[in-house]
Formats: sequence, C-alpha cells, structure tokens
Amino acid sequence: MKNFNYHCAKDSKEASKLSSTNSAFLAGGMTTIPSMKLGLATYKDIIDIKRIKKLAGIKVASKSVIIGSITTHSEVANSKEIKKKIPSLASLAEGIGDPQVRNRGTIGGSIANNDPSADYPSACIALDAIIHTNERKIESSKFFKGMFETALKKGELIEAVEFKIPEKSSYQKYPNPASRYAVVGVYVAKHKSGVNVAITGAKSCVYNDKDLSKVLSSSFSSTALEGMTLNSSDMNSDIHASAEFRASLIVTHAKKAVEAC
Ligand SMILES: Cc1cc2nc3c(=O)[nH]c(=O)nc-3n(C[C@H](O)[C@H](O)[C@H](O)COP(=O)(O)OP(=O)(O)OC[C@H]3O[C@@H](n4cnc5c(N)ncnc54)[C@H](O)[C@@H]3O)c2cc1C
Repeated sequence: MKNFNYHCAKDSKEASKLSSTNSAFLAGGMTTIPSMKLGLATYKDIIDIKRIKKLAGIKVASKSVIIGSITTHSEVANSKEIKKKIPSLASLAEGIGDPQVRNRGTIGGSIANNDPSADYPSACIALDAIIHTNERKIESSKFFKGMFETALKKGELIEAVEFKIPEKSSYQKYPNPASRYAVVGVYVAKHKSGVNVAITGAKSCVYNDKDLSKVLSSSFSSTALEGMTLNSSDMNSDIHASAEFRASLIVTHAKKAVEAC
C-alpha cells in the first residue's frame, strides 16, 4: 500500500473542503481499503467521515425512512423501525456479504461506489429514494449514471438516503456464493402510484425494468408474469451466469418477490 495522508473530518463542510481529485472518503473502508491494498487505487488523502455525527442514525417520518450515510448494513438489518416500516430493506441489508462486511460497510459507501452487483442501488430505485448530499437532494432515478458512476461531484458527500415507504415490497436475489453480491437481484415495490421493479447485477448499472413494472402495475400477481421473457442482448455474461440465464433469473425472482410481498 502506498503512503497517504489520513484526515478525520469533524463535519461535512470540513470533509468536503479536504477532498481533491486525489482523495477518497473513508466510510466502512470495505471497498477503498482492499482497492488500495491490491494497488487498484491510490489516494493522496483519505478523509475519514465516520465521526461526523450528522451522518449517523435512522429517522422515521410519516411517508419515509431516512438513513444516515454512515449507517452500517448491520444497523439497517437490525433496526426495529426499518423492520416495521420497510422489512424488505432490513432483509436486503441482512443478505449483504458476511458479518464482517455488514459490521463495517455503510449505505452511503455502497451507493457512492455504485457497483453493478450491489444490493442497495436496487432499493433506492424501487423505493423512489432521494439522496441527500451536503449540496442538494438527488432523485435516485438521476443518481446512478453507469458502472461505478454516480451524479456525485468531487467532494460532494452523501449525508442521508430517504426511502419512500411502500404499500408492499420484497427483495429477492440470486447471490454469488462467495461474495454474496447479486448475480441478479430484483426489488419489487408497490406504491400507490404504481409498481417499481428494480434490477441489479444484470447490466452495467441498476435499472427500473419498465416492462415488468408495467405488467405488475396493472395486475400485482406472479401469474401476470407467467411466460414473460426478457431481451438479454445487453445483459452481463460472465463466469457466474450467461446473459440468457440472468434474463430468466429476473423473471423467476420477480415472481418470488411478488409472492413474498
Ligand atoms: C467481501 C465483500 C463482500 C461484499 N458483498 C456485498 C454484497 O453482497 N452486496 C453488496 O451490496 N455489497 C457487498 N460488498 C460491498 C460492501 O457492502 C460496502 O457497501 C462497500 O464496500 C462500500 O461501502 P463502505 O462503507 O465500505 O465504503 P468505503 O469503502 O469507505 O468507500 C467506498 C467509496 O465510496 C465513497 N464514499 C463513502 N461514503 C461516502 C459518502 N457518504 N458520500 C460520498 N462518497 C462516499 C468513498 O469516497 C469511496 O470512493 C462487499 C464487500 C466485500 C469486501
């Protein structure tokens, strides 16, 4: 690992001010530290954000749940409020990685990283999340731009993620047996305004499947998805699954999700 300067920011303003084109925020460190150790990334400045109080905690409002960006996956998985208001979100967090990863990794780090197989981005899309940063509020439909790419500007810090409470929801994934990242993950959420079916793991970036969402918005039942096939031409094909297998996993997991709602 190369040398770097370590800073511990006391608030968002200081964290943002310390950042440069050659820096990274340190939340759980579950991506940043291995990347540095393996020589895949080098930074001049590492800005620890774990002591910024404003980024911690879970709040429940009448129509939404607001989760501070440094909240760990374990905290989300074990939160009584989240289990009550959006149980599918607690169960998503429970299925991330292993206990070590869940005890260190954070929701803000996960969505800032925007790994194409990460779980939380699908929750953001399905639950019409709003990403609160130190500068603005960003709708999740405009936040995830491409593989490992988001709408965040350099130095912009995610402070919290606000999830809309759905009428019903479920997240079903086909996990990679080693890392638990999603080979395919399907998050179905039924809102008053319609149904969102967010898919992770299948393409270079999370997306809302318009066809599945449309079918389930007119008839919220697994039988409505019977016989449905998806175009796999732009889906990932790798040692874990072919594009065709991923397309079929999406339909079976969407059915499972509807049945679990
Ligand atoms: C073995 C292993 C298995 C895993 N399995 C899964 C899995 O099954 N599912 C899954 O979804 N994920 C999985 N992960 C990813 C993990 O859960 C973390 O969410 C992820 O590594 C990043 O979160 P972090 O808090 O550790 O971020 P860090 O590593 O600290 O930071 C990652 C990036 O995000 C930026 N960042 C961090 N916080 C903020 C913020 N508040 N605002 C702006 N930018 C920020 C940093 O600058 C950095 O670029 C796995 C990781 C490992 C190592």
